Amino acid sequence: MDQQGILTVVSGFSGAGKGTIMEELVSRYDNYALSVSATTRAPREGEKEGKAYYFKTREEFESMIARDELIEYAQYVDQYYGTPKEYVLASLAAGKDVLLEIEVQGALAVKEKFPDAALVFITPPDAAELKRRLLGRGTESAEKIEARLRRAAQESRLMGNYDYILVNDKLDECVEELHRLIQALHTRACCRQDLIKRIQEDMKQFEKGE
Ligand code: ADP
Ligand code: 5GP
Repeated sequence: MDQQGILTVVSGFSGAGKGTIMEELVSRYDNYALSVSATTRAPREGEKEGKAYYFKTREEFESMIARDELIEYAQYVDQYYGTPKEYVLASLAAGKDVLLEIEVQGALAVKEKFPDAALVFITPPDAAELKRRLLGRGTESAEKIEARLRRAAQESRLMGNYDYILVNDKLDECVEELHRLIQALHTRACCRQDLIKRIQEDMKQFEKGE
């Protein structure tokens, strides 16, 4: 088995389908660990504490920052969102492929700290479909949807900084494409240090002429 799991950061416009894709991926395959973020935003209908998010007050969130408990954090449409450190580090060490579903600033901050992390950007096929999905989800007011669409337009300028771009047109295809991508990343040399060392050791016999 690989030493460490792979850290994959998934971003995309609000309403692109990230949450739906992550949920499917985790339910179809065993080796994923989905990080649960902390946030100051209010829970949506049906969102459970510790499953969708750890819901925090501003004071609680700011003390997590002060105690250095977050890998990264960002403000998104006036609310804090951040990635708790402990779960991510423990899961990677246990060989799990860790998924972070976070916005663009956070993703770029993760890449600074974890240069081997894979940055994946998920986009709907076009802008009209994005608006349809956000309206269809029905979880935000018209005003909040407008704010999210404005933010999406800004985020689209940073898509080019990502390693991979996936189009979420047909959900099932996008889930499988993401899974294949992450599995393929296991063959990168940076993920195969144990194997490299074993083969190098093994090859020494030929230097000695055995
Ligand atoms: P995000 O987590 O990126 O904000 P969601 O996962 O909440 O987005 O998806 C937004 C809405 O779009 C949801 O109502 C979801 O059911 C729907 N959706 C997700 N993927 C697709 C898809 N491939 N085709 C059509 N609708 C989708
Ligand atoms: P939502 O309110 O729709 O759940 O999330 C809003 C945005 O915050 C999404 O783009 C989501 O990916 C992002 N987000 C969720 N958790 C985190 C996090 O821990 N850190 C950062 N930087 N962004 C996050």
